[in-house]
Amino acid sequence: MPATVIVGAQWGDEGKGKIVDLLAQSSDVVCRYQGGPNAGHTVIVGGETFKFRHLPSGILSGKVSVLGAGCVVDPEVLLEEIDGLEERGISSDPLKISGNAHLIMPWHIALDGAGEKRLGKLQIGTTRRGIGPAYADKAARLGIRVQDLLDAKILRQKIETALAEKNIWLERVYELEPFELEDVASRYEGFAQRLRPFVADTSLLVDEAIRDGRNVLLEGAQGTLLDLDHGTYPFVTSSNPIAGAAATGIGIGPTRIDRVMGVAKAYVTRVGEGPFPTEIVGPDQERLRELGGEYGTVTGRQRRCGWLDLVGLRYAVRLNGMTSLALTKLDVLSSFAELPVCVRYRLRDGTETDEFPAHQSDFHHCEPVYETLPGWHEPLDAIDDVATLPQAARDYVDFVEERLGVEVCLIGTGASRERVLSRRGVEAVLS
Ligand code: GDP
Repeated sequence: MPATVIVGAQWGDEGKGKIVDLLAQSSDVVCRYQGGPNAGHTVIVGGETFKFRHLPSGILSGKVSVLGAGCVVDPEVLLEEIDGLEERGISSDPLKISGNAHLIMPWHIALDGAGEKRLGKLQIGTTRRGIGPAYADKAARLGIRVQDLLDAKILRQKIETALAEKNIWLERVYELEPFELEDVASRYEGFAQRLRPFVADTSLLVDEAIRDGRNVLLEGAQGTLLDLDHGTYPFVTSSNPIAGAAATGIGIGPTRIDRVMGVAKAYVTRVGEGPFPTEIVGPDQERLRELGGEYGTVTGRQRRCGWLDLVGLRYAVRLNGMTSLALTKLDVLSSFAELPVCVRYRLRDGTETDEFPAHQSDFHHCEPVYETLPGWHEPLDAIDDVATLPQAARDYVDFVEERLGVEVCLIGTGASRERVLSRRGVEAVLS
C-alpha cells in the first residue's frame, strides 16, 4: 500500500474515520490534505470513543500524522484536541503541520456566523467554525499562515493588516464588536509557543516517505458531493475533498498516488441544506436516523437520511478515479424488509439517466428511479466472514459492485474498528 487516498464518496460522514484508522494500522504516515475543524471523525477502539475534528485519525496508532498545506487550522481547537489526547495517554509528538496551512482567525468565526444569519433561508448550513471565510481570505491573499506564527513581528503586522479590513465589516455591515489588535496578537503568540514544535516541511516529508517505499495514507475530509468545484454548489464545503486535491493539498505530484479508496455508507446522509434526491419521505427516515445514530459529530445536528444513490456514487467513482470502495454501516440496514436503491434519475423532460446531471437545475428537479432489493433480518454484528453474511446482504453488496464496476473491498458491519469484513481478507486490502 504505497500512497493511497481515502475519500468520502457521498456528502461526508461516510465513516471514513474508522476506515482510515483501520488502514493506519499498516501505514507509516497519515495525512489530511484539506478542510478544517468541521470534519468530525469518530473512531472507536477497544470500547473507547475518540472524536477528532482536526487531527488525522492516524494519531491514535502513533503514526506520523500530517496536516497538509491545503488544510485550515484553528489553533485553539487543535490544541484542545492535543490536550485531550495527552490526557488519555496518547502522544501528539507524531503530529506535523505544514507551515503553508492557513490559520482560522477569530474574525473568520465571527463572519461565518454573521454571514449565515444574513443569508437567512438561503443559508448554506456551514458549521460556523470560520472555515469558509479562512479559505476565502487565502484566495484573496489576506490569509495568515501557520508559518507566520513563528515570527511575532510578522504575525502582529499581518493581524493588523487584516483587522483594518475585517473590523469595518464586523462593525459597519454586521454591527458586531471589532477585535483589538493587542488581544488577538497576544492570544495567537501564546498558541505559537505551543504549536512551534509541530511545524514541518510536510511536502518534503511525505515525498521522502513515498520515495522510501513507506505506506502513506491521504485522508480527505467531507465528501465528493461537497467538493467546491464538482459538488452540489453552493451547498458545498469551501475546499476540494476529491482525490485529485490530495496532491495539491499535501504538495506531492499526482503521479505519486497509487490507489484511491472511496468510502460510502450503504445508504446516504446529508447534513445541512441542498438537494437530496433519495431523501426518504415518511417514517423510515427517522428509523434509519435512529438505527444509524445519524447526528453530527461536531454539531450534533440531525442528518437527513436517504436510500443508496448509485447515480451519485458512479459520479464519485469518476471524479476520484476510485480503485476500490469501502461500504460502511451495512448493519444499519438489517431489519428493513425492502431496500430501494436509486439506479437512475428521471429528469424534468421525462428522460432517464444514470450519469450525474452536469447542471444544477437538472439535479434539483430530478426524481430517483429505484430498484428494490430484498432486505434481511439478521443482525450483522456477530458475523466475521463475508461468506456467512445473509444472502440478501451479499446480494446488496454484489449489486453495488456490479452497477459501479468497482470492487467493494471492505464492508462495515458495526461501529468499532474490528467490525469490518473483506472478501480478500482485511490484511490483503491493507497490503
Ligand atoms: P466520517 O466523518 O466519515 O469519519 O464519519 P463519522 O465518524 O461522522 O460517522 C460515522 C459514524 O458511523 C461513526 O459514529 C462511526 O463510529 C460509525 N460507523 C462507522 N462504520 C460503521 C459501520 O460499519 N457500522 C456502524 N453501525 N457504524 C459505523
